[in-house]
Amino acid sequence: MKAQRSDQSYDVAVCGGGFAGISAALAAARQGKRVILFEKQYLLGGLGTAGLVTIYLPLCDGFGRQVSFGIAEELLKLSIKYGAEAKYPENWLDGKGTRTSKDKRYEVQYNAQLFAILAEQLLLENGVELLYGSYVTDVATENGRITELHVENKSGRTAYAVRAVVDATGDCDIAHFAGVPTETFKQGNVLAAWYYRTSEAGYKLQMVGFADVPDEERNGKEAKPLTARRFTGLDGRELSDMTCLSHKTTLEHWLKKREADPSAVISTIATTPQIRMTRKIVGEYELSHTEEHTAFEDSIGMVSNWKKRGPVYEVPFRTLYNKAVKNLIVAGRCTSVNETLWDVMRVIPCCAVTGQAAGTAAAMSDDFSTLDIKVLQAVLTKNGVVLHESDLL
Ligand SMILES: Cc1cc2nc3c(=O)[nH]c(=O)nc-3n(C[C@H](O)[C@H](O)[C@H](O)COP(=O)(O)OP(=O)(O)OC[C@H]3O[C@@H](n4cnc5c(N)ncnc54)[C@H](O)[C@@H]3O)c2cc1C
Repeated sequence: MKAQRSDQSYDVAVCGGGFAGISAALAAARQGKRVILFEKQYLLGGLGTAGLVTIYLPLCDGFGRQVSFGIAEELLKLSIKYGAEAKYPENWLDGKGTRTSKDKRYEVQYNAQLFAILAEQLLLENGVELLYGSYVTDVATENGRITELHVENKSGRTAYAVRAVVDATGDCDIAHFAGVPTETFKQGNVLAAWYYRTSEAGYKLQMVGFADVPDEERNGKEAKPLTARRFTGLDGRELSDMTCLSHKTTLEHWLKKREADPSAVISTIATTPQIRMTRKIVGEYELSHTEEHTAFEDSIGMVSNWKKRGPVYEVPFRTLYNKAVKNLIVAGRCTSVNETLWDVMRVIPCCAVTGQAAGTAAAMSDDFSTLDIKVLQAVLTKNGVVLHESDLL
């Protein structure tokens, strides 16, 4: 089928509406730009809603210091606007209270469906044009730039002329289509089958399928995956098989639970594959897990380590692009980090931090390697981001 050409033009096209894409679209729209967000599903939030991953991991370092700010904090608060499911960090939210290493970390558990609706309203209020059910399937490039995005939905195939593009697909799809160097997750992902179970006692997130831990971090701990098979997340057949296995696992898990509590029912299953790490960009800089507490002149914000208290990482702007394609920037779980740090950078707060930076940059430029970093940092700072560890109180 021949692509029809859209007669609309946008300053910023965001591909993917997970936490990274939501943050990018919001940041770009707040800079007064015309923004469109293409999302292949019919709700926002990606793994954080359709994937039933509803734990907004910490914005703090675990020793009483908040390190991620701006949209990362705004979305955390939005996610519990009408109440949290668990882990309500009152001493963080009320701005009072002690914040010591003994306190709970600044994280929450939220309702996926509610967050999807609230995020949608937030983007619409800020003037973002949403196009659901829209799969970006290819790009056209010319002289090291993406000139068009090819989008498929119920209308058929449409080509959108673009100025700046944010790849927030989680899988680095757009970079891959555009020929930017990328890397895949070598070990492959373990199976997960997170679901919600409801009973007379209330409803509960069932986190079936342990967090993947890169080999070098296992420290002799025995890994007990649900199945020995691992998944790349980049193959249509394999993703379909993984989904069936995940459903089967959910059923078996629930049947066991039902033996003890006959009132238990499965209330929600994921509608997107629960895959953690797939493909990431080879950026102008690759941030390593060893670079905790390292100051970067081009930092666009900070993230902590959800796995342990202490480490703080400044995120260099150069981890978000590769000069090979001038007007493409990535955000979320496809940022340029080494294999060990990937498991840290993929989580929700980090996706929001890189999303805000990518969206702000895309509003300002269509050639990221020449963007004046000081100007970008000034806008981020004005919008609540703290860039450097040395700036923390
Ligand atoms: C089992 C599991 C447990 C996890 N546990 C936690 C946890 O407890 N806490 C935490 O913070 N994080 C957790 N994570 C990680 C976290 O949920 C995700 O890494 C994070 O939400 C990713 O956000 P993202 O926006 O980068 O990508 P995604 O959430 O993957 O969003 C990408 C979006 O882009 C859309 N999309 C993809 N390709 C295209 C395309 N070509 N065209 C149009 N749209 C497209 C997708 O539909 C999706 O909505 C977990 C992940 C898994 C799988």
